[in-house]
Amino acid sequence: MRIRPTLSWTPTGEIAPGTTDLGPVAEALGAGGVLVLSGAGISTESGIPDYRGEGGSLSRHTPMTYQDFTAGPQARRRYWARSHLGWRTFGRARPNTGHLAVAAFARQGLLSGVITQNVDGLHQAAGSEGVVELHGSLDRVVCLSCGAFSPRRELAGRLEEANAGFAPVAAALNPDGDADLTDEQVKDFQVVPCALCGGILKPDVVFFGETVPPRRVEHCRALVGEASSLLVLGSSLTVMSGLRFVRQAAQEGRPVLIINRDPTRGDRHATTRIALPLGAALTTVAERLGITPAPMSEPPLENAERP
Ligand SMILES: [Zn+2]
Repeated sequence: MRIRPTLSWTPTGEIAPGTTDLGPVAEALGAGGVLVLSGAGISTESGIPDYRGEGGSLSRHTPMTYQDFTAGPQARRRYWARSHLGWRTFGRARPNTGHLAVAAFARQGLLSGVITQNVDGLHQAAGSEGVVELHGSLDRVVCLSCGAFSPRRELAGRLEEANAGFAPVAAALNPDGDADLTDEQVKDFQVVPCALCGGILKPDVVFFGETVPPRRVEHCRALVGEASSLLVLGSSLTVMSGLRFVRQAAQEGRPVLIINRDPTRGDRHATTRIALPLGAALTTVAERLGITPAPMSEPPLENAERP
């Protein structure tokens, strides 16, 4: 059965207006035990575009689905050509003040955990530890035949070698590390197989149309079950993979605080939604709590290793 994933969501009924009052967020963090759930919105200030919202990449681009990826070599050629190009840009992306504030909250012992829907590694680059990557990470590659994991930078080196001179100009970059290229631009791109068994390589990310591994979901459910409140940062909560944790928190009577510019699919479960830019909002909260986020190091080690 071919399942088309949910790619968009339209608000129905009355839309609760967002506020600009950061008081409840400062209060929740001050009390500690806050579980952060972050989405693409926290990385837009690092130059990684959001899928949704104004100018969101979904308006012009359908992300690769698992079904497309496994259907044939042409789709994989297109994916890897675009992803290879996107990786160069991702490698240059730096954590922003939002990521740094989250890391600072964690260092102060105010967080019980961080779950991210992002695959960009920017929370970790900002110094956050123990981040649960709900949708995996672009840093790793998995073989669909033998199941072996390998670092993405290793594959990037092999792709670089196999595609000397591949330097097309992309129309745009997407949050899954994919760049917009035409069929003509990708037709000669050489995909490389698993170095161990010759199998098909896939980034270790959860594609649209694919489910999050059950053990990872259980781990997140347990984190929600232990949190004193859930703080959603920059997610429209369109896909069930994140929304279910908001529902769980609400059902268990835990306050749900959302900072997101636009209305979200989780608003009805939320105590409050604050419609402010994330970097500035989290910096303000940090100041109120007397916390100074660490300055950005130059350049972050993790990104420096990338080609
Ligand atoms: Zn293999």
